[in-house]
Amino acid sequence: MDYRYRGATTNALDGVTLAVEPGVSLGVVGESGSGKSTALSLLLGLARPTSGRVLLDGAPLDLSDRRRRRDFRRRVQVVFQDPYSSLDPRQRVDRIVAEPLVSLRLRRGRESLREAVTAALASVDLDADVARRYPHEFSGGQRQRIAIARALVTGPSVLLADEPVSALDLTTRLGVIALLDRLKRERGLTVVMVSHDVSAVAALCERTVVLKDGRVVEQGTTRDILDSP
Ligand code: ADP
Ligand code: ADP
Repeated sequence: MDYRYRGATTNALDGVTLAVEPGVSLGVVGESGSGKSTALSLLLGLARPTSGRVLLDGAPLDLSDRRRRRDFRRRVQVVFQDPYSSLDPRQRVDRIVAEPLVSLRLRRGRESLREAVTAALASVDLDADVARRYPHEFSGGQRQRIAIARALVTGPSVLLADEPVSALDLTTRLGVIALLDRLKRERGLTVVMVSHDVSAVAALCERTVVLKDGRVVEQGTTRDILDSP
């Protein structure tokens, strides 16, 4: 697929195929300006390719009607780089984590929401009492776990992660990567991780695509790509 920003004279993505197979995690790496964020926003359905199609979880992305868009939002969730700015500091954690369920009207009623929030927090190794607290009470690593709980609460099959550990210190980073790896295996989650951190990609992703100037310059198993000179 190609993508060109309005008013730009060159394509931000040029002939890029990102075929993400179910249950396989894909790392998207490349220097700043190589097209990683553009690729992520196309996978998120935020923009349409200028030409070509987005294949996600083995199927073309189809957002042609409300039902499909709603299903897509349930099935495909996202975690961002900076857990300090991605969680609203004025909302309690239970509200933050329940938000996708409320806005997609997947569950209603206090008890039902509480149950879903507790389960989502447990799946990222956080206690139920975290729900009654506010984001500023937590460290970066814990906040990123809260953001992952929010992403998991709808039972997605795909998790898009935009530099999910780049804002964390090294030890915290390893913990979050281990968590993502476990979730991937336990739930058969498809993970697409955009990162300039090669060690994070090596730890989590079976396959890697390397972008440069909007083009795929290498793709294959992460092992082959990291071993190549
Ligand atoms: P990365 O995430 O790898 O840093 P981006 O996807 O942000 O790369 O950028 C890819 C290319 O698209 C770059 O040349 C960048 O300057 C350009 N670009 C990004 N966002 C915009 C925009 N909103 N309008 C015009 N050009 C953009
Ligand atoms: P972790 O504590 O999980 O390793 P961080 O990398 O975010 O996660 O934390 C680095 C240090 O900064 C920790 O000692 C943490 O307690 C502290 N810290 C985290 N968040 C804040 C914050 N909002 N204000 C002040 N200090 C914080």
